[in-house]
Amino acid sequence: MTPQPRTAPDEVEVDVVIVGAGFAGIGMATQLARRARESFVVIERADAVGGTWRDNTYPGIACDIPAHLYSFSFRPPADWSTLYPSGAEIQRYLQQTVDDEGLGGHIRLRCALDEARWDDAAARWVLATGTGEIRARVLVMAVGRLSEPHMPAVEGLESFTGTVMHTAGWRDGVLSGGERIGVVGTGASAVQVIPYLAQGADELVVFSRTPPYVVPREDRRFTDAERAELRVPERARARRDELLLDADKAFRQRLGLRPDIDDIRARALGHLNRQVGDPALRAALTPDYEIGCKRILLSDDFYPTLQRPNVVFEASALDSVAECKAQAVSGNTYDLDVLVMATGFEATRPPAAARIRGRDARSLDEHWADGMVSYASTAVSGFPNMFVLDGPNAALGHNSAIYMIETQLDYVVGALDFLAHSGSRSLEVTAEAEAGYTREIDERSASTVWLTGCNSWYVDPRSGRLTLLWPGTAVSFRERNGTFDPAPYAIVAPPRNEGGPHR
Ligand code: NAP
Repeated sequence: MTPQPRTAPDEVEVDVVIVGAGFAGIGMATQLARRARESFVVIERADAVGGTWRDNTYPGIACDIPAHLYSFSFRPPADWSTLYPSGAEIQRYLQQTVDDEGLGGHIRLRCALDEARWDDAAARWVLATGTGEIRARVLVMAVGRLSEPHMPAVEGLESFTGTVMHTAGWRDGVLSGGERIGVVGTGASAVQVIPYLAQGADELVVFSRTPPYVVPREDRRFTDAERAELRVPERARARRDELLLDADKAFRQRLGLRPDIDDIRARALGHLNRQVGDPALRAALTPDYEIGCKRILLSDDFYPTLQRPNVVFEASALDSVAECKAQAVSGNTYDLDVLVMATGFEATRPPAAARIRGRDARSLDEHWADGMVSYASTAVSGFPNMFVLDGPNAALGHNSAIYMIETQLDYVVGALDFLAHSGSRSLEVTAEAEAGYTREIDERSASTVWLTGCNSWYVDPRSGRLTLLWPGTAVSFRERNGTFDPAPYAIVAPPRNEGGPHR
């Protein structure tokens, strides 16, 4: 029989509060619902679940990690239609998870976090939200790293007479065909949206501050026979394992090891040379930094699109705007009706951190003044009973984010078991353990292309530290951080065992 969750939707005192109903929050909620041990609630500021897959609805949005790896291992395998699923298909998958797992009653939509404060005397997190107070023993932050669009400060942008739209805030109906469109950025979102926009635009100008490395995508629909086979759990599991280990081999490239880095560079430059004949355009599209330090993009139609007669590749950033005129750093100017900002996210400094106050009332943002730090990429010193999913050094540039999230879910569940079995009031990772883990991250990342190859959003500009990515394979992340161990924690016993924190 399916265990029945114990939480009524309007309950304000719960064991666990999860902030965010994207992949990580839904994964955490699924685990808690299945355990049926802790009461819990998920708060979500938007009016639907899905996180980045709900917000990013630009034409062409898709995943560049194979579907059977970019999904929960603990759910029955989904019947994916293509190798790389579309954003809409992933969003349906997440909604289906919520429905099948009976999570709806736990999720409060349109409930934004205003503040989360640790009440040490009560050993509770006290959350002020748009719809009232929630008190919880454990706080799980699952706000993601691709949730706050980054809008570049462009001089005169407010004077633009046309429409400005970020890829993460797409508005259907703005484009009806025949517009002059500028796209700012040539990252993962840009290469997906540009081929679609070019089809309907009168003119499309692509402002590129840094050209990306691009390799062939080679997406395809699964045949009926493949789909039937991949619905069998053992086959899907075997496929997932194969994909995971295969993707993990790419970490050698990120260490700059030969021949791996030379092979991937040759693959990307070969793709460019095959698809772009014009020497001047080819030169403008040739990166001058090491491959892998920014995300390696997958596209078969980005380069061909740039050679359409209605497309201009502007090999410099957007510098300023004056009414309908957009000026590039090169000095070139363009008359535009729409500006699409494909400029990424505020990932290194998550805005939610300013709203979380720990044991000594310091905010998480203050604690992270030199960039995000943690223990096990999940716990933070000074913030008892708080776990951060998909936060410091928990992302990957070469493998599935969902595998990383699942690793963290195992860790959090282990911590919840410990809290339950030990009867402890709280768990707080020590400052020494956090400092030690931070040193370990710095040592592991020192020789990676992320620190030696170029600037990217994986590196915090305040400290120059790699704070977004795990500097290792996905498998090594699980080995290091998949199992909760109480040793590096200060543990506060129940009140009758006076004596304060002890190990
Ligand atoms: P992004 O990778 O951060 O790319 C942003 C682009 O905007 C870059 O080309 C960047 O140039 C440019 N840019 C930013 N600020 C600028 C400024 N002030 N002036 C000029 N150019 C500026 O963002 P994204 O493409 O949205 O992708 C973010 C992440 O989302 C990806 O790394 C990936 O993890 C995820 N994503 C995944 C998929 C997928 O298929 N799975 C699809 C989309 C997104 P510089 O390189 O010079 O900084």
